[in-house]
Amino acid sequence: MTTPVTGPVLVLLDHAADGGLRQPVLELLTAARALGTVHGAWTADADGSDPDARTLELLGTYGVETVHRLDVGDADVRLTPVLAQGLTALVQSAGASVLLLTSSFENKEVAARVGLATGAGVVVDASAVEVADDRVVAAKTVFAGTWNTRCAVRTPLAVIALKAGSVQAEPAAERVTATVVAQAVTVDDGARRVRVTEHTERAASTRPDLAAAQVVVVGGRGTNGDFALLEELADVLGGAVGATRVATDEGWIGHDAQIGQTGVTVAPQLYIGAGVSGAVHHRGGMQSAGTIVAINNDPEAPIFEIADFGIVGDLFTVLPQATAELRRLKG
Ligand SMILES: Cc1cc2nc3c(=O)[nH]c(=O)nc-3n(C[C@H](O)[C@H](O)[C@H](O)COP(=O)(O)OP(=O)(O)OC[C@H]3O[C@@H](n4cnc5c(N)ncnc54)[C@H](O)[C@@H]3O)c2cc1C
Repeated sequence: MTTPVTGPVLVLLDHAADGGLRQPVLELLTAARALGTVHGAWTADADGSDPDARTLELLGTYGVETVHRLDVGDADVRLTPVLAQGLTALVQSAGASVLLLTSSFENKEVAARVGLATGAGVVVDASAVEVADDRVVAAKTVFAGTWNTRCAVRTPLAVIALKAGSVQAEPAAERVTATVVAQAVTVDDGARRVRVTEHTERAASTRPDLAAAQVVVVGGRGTNGDFALLEELADVLGGAVGATRVATDEGWIGHDAQIGQTGVTVAPQLYIGAGVSGAVHHRGGMQSAGTIVAINNDPEAPIFEIADFGIVGDLFTVLPQATAELRRLKG
């Protein structure tokens, strides 16, 4: 029999510096509603700011009744040990049964630290979460995407880091009023050993965030370092640009664009790989994409084994044609 969890489901409300919620948070809130009562954890900036009225309204639309505003005093909440200690205190004071986070690099570390501090079962890079037989059960692929597993958490608290794009964000059937509750947490000296001396916001890109993008255009060694054609195609499709490790190691694009086992995991509706062989370490980070299109001049390239559509050809010929045709169709 399936019943909701007893304690609240606490969702970490990742937000940009301007206070806007990041898209995967809405996906987490949608998943959280199926588990139980949804609470949010809002990390206050140095000025202790609450979510603004627009954000609170959006949270209410997604069924969040209580927003715990985490205030860590003069500690820096951007540091994972600080955030982990704050969330540990929050899950305990709220009596939460589940902590849900977006599966980013930082949040996976936070999840592990909260698990260590609370003894909770932790699943990161999960692709789904549900309550089954009164337990929180998370799905995830392992061994570079070759196995699908389901992990039942056996502890009273489950910490689940869910991959962006795993759930379709949908507002709740009924809107609620989100109320902010302040929660001050004193973090210990250990969490303060690192001090942020400088912080620069990356220049805003008009492209979507790679981990959350619904369309991802990926370049590999076959691009020979020329990503301009990929960027053009990505822009026509409103997508993000990703890369293989070879491309990032060569310095053709930043390391944050790397997709795969040691890079970002993506789950877009559409993945287009150009000059990408489809090595197992890369596949682990992209093969749960809805539709996979591969462009490669080698018909034996392994990526064709998992591609829904394969184009055998030179990417420098194929990409401009695809971009031009899409532009024409868009008018
Ligand atoms: C521990 C470990 C972790 C790793 N983690 C990652 C990871 O997270 N992500 C990742 O991507 N890799 C990772 N790797 C590396 C991975 O094993 C592969 O080496 C890498 O993915 C290959 O990148 P590629 O497809 O760009 O290059 P290649 O394997 O060299 O493939 C290039 C492809 O481009 C094609 N090509 C060449 N020219 C053209 C053209 N003009 N038009 C069309 N096609 C063309 C070729 O036919 C070839 O198939 C990891 C490796 C290790 C050991």
